[in-house]
Amino acid sequence: MIVAVDGPAGSGKGTVTQILADRLNLWNFDTGATYRCVALMTIRKNFNLDEENKIIDEIDNLNIEFKKDNGIEKVFLNGEDVTKEIRSNEVTKIVSQVSAIIGVRLKMVEMQRKMSEGKDVILEGRDIGTYVFPNADVKIYLDATLEERATRRFKENREKGIECTYDEVLQNVSFRDENDKNKPIGALKMADDAVLVDTTNMSIDEVVKKMEEIIRAGGKK
Ligand code: C5P
Repeated sequence: MIVAVDGPAGSGKGTVTQILADRLNLWNFDTGATYRCVALMTIRKNFNLDEENKIIDEIDNLNIEFKKDNGIEKVFLNGEDVTKEIRSNEVTKIVSQVSAIIGVRLKMVEMQRKMSEGKDVILEGRDIGTYVFPNADVKIYLDATLEERATRRFKENREKGIECTYDEVLQNVSFRDENDKNKPIGALKMADDAVLVDTTNMSIDEVVKKMEEIIRAGGKK
């Protein structure tokens, strides 16, 4: 069983897929976290964004794992817990450029397919229904207005202790939207057979309920 959940930054994917995964007994796969690990490696290795081959080659040395710790999903990069660091401003600033590199995407998509093998999984990302798993059993596209998405990210950052202003967050979300929509492969786009859920005026509970109905109906509205 493969459930593909795509949508722009701040559309609510991360929050609701975690709840749905627990409820429906699916593995929750945050594919954005895998690109964030590549961005973190790029920073740590001091690679420039135009040193594409160095970034692409180094991916072979990355071992990315997701593990639950006391019910909380954690991300490990070569055995180190990087859950918090991959959400830092530095990583968030460059991740959409790193993930636009074609060679990076090809390797990461292969990794994502391998990691999902043999599992009942709900994947969240930008290109799951269009590129990673075009034959997914259920495809949902979450959206919300830019302002609403920036407000959510701003609140989330504050809760996590990440320093930022609302304007910085708004600018970053808008910058990432543009980058994500214009990628040469795996661009952010709603799949023709996806169900659209506009979460702008919906609570988390309402979004979860709606998505559960869609999943149980096998991807129909
Ligand atoms: O979902 P999240 O905001 O953590 O994703 C970080 C970045 O990773 C996105 O801005 C996007 O550029 C990239 N991404 C992607 N394809 C995915 C998931 C994320 O290009 N499937």
